[in-house]
Formats: sequence, C-alpha cells, structure tokens
Amino acid sequence: MLDHDLHCHSSISDGTLAPAELVHRAAERGVKELALTDHDDMDGLDEARAAAAQHGMTFINGVEISVTWRTHTVHIVGLNINPDYQPLVEGLRSVRSGRGERARKMAEELAKAGIGGTLQGAYQYAGNSNMIGRAHFARYLVEAGHCKDVKSVFNRYLAKGKTGYVSHRWAALADAIGWILGSGGVAVLAHPGRYMVGRSSMGKKTMHELLTEFTGCGGQAIEVVSGSHTPEQYAEFARYAAEFNLLCSCGSDFHGPGESYRDMGRLPDFPLGCKPVWQAWEGR
Ligand code: AMP
Ligand code: MN
Ligand code: MN
Ligand code: MN
Repeated sequence: MLDHDLHCHSSISDGTLAPAELVHRAAERGVKELALTDHDDMDGLDEARAAAAQHGMTFINGVEISVTWRTHTVHIVGLNINPDYQPLVEGLRSVRSGRGERARKMAEELAKAGIGGTLQGAYQYAGNSNMIGRAHFARYLVEAGHCKDVKSVFNRYLAKGKTGYVSHRWAALADAIGWILGSGGVAVLAHPGRYMVGRSSMGKKTMHELLTEFTGCGGQAIEVVSGSHTPEQYAEFARYAAEFNLLCSCGSDFHGPGESYRDMGRLPDFPLGCKPVWQAWEGR
C-alpha cells in the first residue's frame, strides 16, 4: 500500500472539505506524504501545510491546471511547485478568469432545458467564487432533486455533449508545463485513463501524440495509480511510463466524503518497475 497521496481537492476548488479538514482526514487514513492539488488555484496551500505540520506529515505544494489540448480538456498536475512564482500565479489567474462567464452560459443552457436557478444554486456550493465549476452545479442539481447523485448529474447534464455542457478554452499545454517547471515543480499528466473513455475520447494513437508533446514540453511524470483508474489501467499506464521514461505518480483525486471514487490514502502499490515521482524532490 502507498502512503503517498499526491492528488486531492479542498473547498478552494471543487472539494467539499476545507484544506485543514482534508489534511486531518488524510492523517487519520495513514497518509505520510500529501499534496493538495486544487484546480487552477493555490490558495489552500498555506492552511494545508500548517495542518500537515501538526501531524508530522510531509506536505508537497500542488496544483491541477486545466488545459485545452486539441479538442480535449486534459489536466496537468504540478507537484513541488513554488506558489510564489509570479508567472504561475498570473497564469492561474488567467485560467480562472473565464469561469464566471462559463458558469453563466451553463445556467442559461440549463434554463433553456427547463431547469432554473442553477447559477445562484451553484455559487452556494462554491467555497471560492473564482473557482465556480461543474461540480458545484452538480451538487445543486442533486439538492434540487434533478438527479440522485453527482455522478448522474454529469452523465445526464454536464458531461461533454450534454445540455449543460459549455465548451471552454483553458491553458495551452506548453504554458501550463512551463509555469510548473519555471517554479521548480514537476509536471504530471493527471488521470490519463479518463481521456480514453466516453464520448469523443482519445484513442491510443492520440494518447501517444499527447505524451510525445507532453514530454517534449518538459513533462516528467504520469499518474499511474489514480482514484479514477481501474487496476487494468494501472498496468496500462505503467507501460506508457516505461515507454516514455516517465516518473509515476499516485493520488486519490478525492473531492469529498461520499462523492469520490476513492477515499484518501491507502492506494495500492505501483506495478513493478515504476519509478515514483517523489524521487524528483528526494534527489535520487
Ligand atoms: P470543471 O473544471 O468546472 O470543468 O470541472 C471538472 C470537475 O468536474 C472534475 O475535476 C471533477 O471534479 C468533476 N467531474 C468531471 N467529470 C465528472 C464525472 N463524470 N463524474 C463526476 N465528477 C466529474
Ligand atoms: Mn474536480
Ligand atoms: Mn482532474
Ligand atoms: Mn483532480
């Protein structure tokens, strides 16, 4: 079992727990090294770091950047970043800046489909109004009785191609990786398995092209053990890691009790041959 969890969310983005609460939960569940990786925002890091110190836990500064690559939205996690590095701070500000307008359009589309009040409703769930996102809409739609859980809201309304989906242009891949590397961090391709399932997903050829471009820009690691991967996908992405000479990362992608595929920590070990991403900051 791995005692590292290098991907999770607090209420600074679309998680439901405050940064300190999230860290306490991780400690209770045996996590020894934790990275907080909120979407497009680093405001939770100070609180999380202080809470981690109380538990004697190693804390790694993280972020998960939303990227548009060709027609796909992909997520790039930055680990061991410096949150004071100005190009990263400014870059994330620009990535966040379109969220309010996108939310308004989403609410408009949902209203056309007969579902009103979603903009106000979604903002009630956003701990940080700059980071309004689909998960906040999903929680409101559950509360309003439109679906039984968040997962069903995505399937019915918010996934690509559904009524409430509004396409959006996020950061460019090279920019996101550049901000992370410039700050001294490691760029990690998040949950690659997610890009290969569902409507308009990537095939193997496109995944190869993505990894070629990702490594060409200086990307160094890939999530192998992720809360959104099946055990078959651990093996599949361990093979990609070997092929592209990438370090391997692991994380629950926890968003909140009762909402995520996996709770924090207690992740299964890497497949044989994986080089853990923490080698990058432990200097081995
Ligand atoms: P956004 O950045 O606002 O487009 O929201 C993306 C977030 O929505 C992801 O980080 C997940 O938290 C959530 N999400 C995306 N797809 C799904 C899904 N199929 N089921 C549940 N949550 C999802
Ligand atoms: Mn999320
Ligand atoms: Mn993600
Ligand atoms: Mn995530």
